[in-house]
Amino acid sequence: MDSRIIIANWKMNGSAEMVANIVPAIVGFKVPGVRSVLCPPAIFLRSVAEMIGSAEVFLGGQNCSTEKSGAFTGEISPEMLGNVGCRYVIIGHSERRQCYFETNGVVGKKFVNAMEAGLIPICCVGETGEERSKGLTREVINGQIDSLFTALGESTSKVNLEFLIAYEPVWAIGTGESASPDLASETHIMIRDRVAQHNAVVAETIKILYGGSVNEKNAGSFFEKGEIGGALIGGASLKPHSFNEIRKLAAGA
Ligand code: PEP
Repeated sequence: MDSRIIIANWKMNGSAEMVANIVPAIVGFKVPGVRSVLCPPAIFLRSVAEMIGSAEVFLGGQNCSTEKSGAFTGEISPEMLGNVGCRYVIIGHSERRQCYFETNGVVGKKFVNAMEAGLIPICCVGETGEERSKGLTREVINGQIDSLFTALGESTSKVNLEFLIAYEPVWAIGTGESASPDLASETHIMIRDRVAQHNAVVAETIKILYGGSVNEKNAGSFFEKGEIGGALIGGASLKPHSFNEIRKLAAGA
């Protein structure tokens, strides 16, 4: 089995003190065969980078600009993320789509910009509860995936097509109500099929992760599904014990 990827999204949580406590507890807990990625708030990226220094734990940004540089106050370019040691960047998280009105078009631009800077985008897709109840899940997610490939097609650059997709049903994020492993797995298959319509080679190898109220109690049941290549973890990633248990389960299943 190819190694799983477990990603911590701290969102806008933490402090310098928390970084000093949490990061050593994660880095010191070795889980061979699992790729772990920490995405702290941007202000803490450099200090986390200095603390990880291990080939097994990687650093990621939570967001990046659509632009490369210039008069964009408050923005951070993907190249800057790379400068402080990031390998990954989360794009299209539902909180950015909902709170900051990021459209599929904006997410597509970030996707290309990140890959042009040599980062691996973690592209979040997923439906709201209302969309699911209206039977729109497939349409919404297909639209989110299509916009990534549309942005690529509009770009003149040649990029290394390495990226991840995180299926994060919006109704499961931070609610304690995770999707069932069966539902997550079925949706992952649907996502892979859609990717294949754009690029069969990418579809064969791309890792699709699940995110939405994953914790140390339910993580194992997701990893029993071969289709689930890892997890994007919010709340539980702020608790080193929980996060490490999830990493352990990812290694063992
Ligand atoms: C997330 O924010 O990406 C997430 C999955 O959060 P939580 O694990 O808290 O549901």
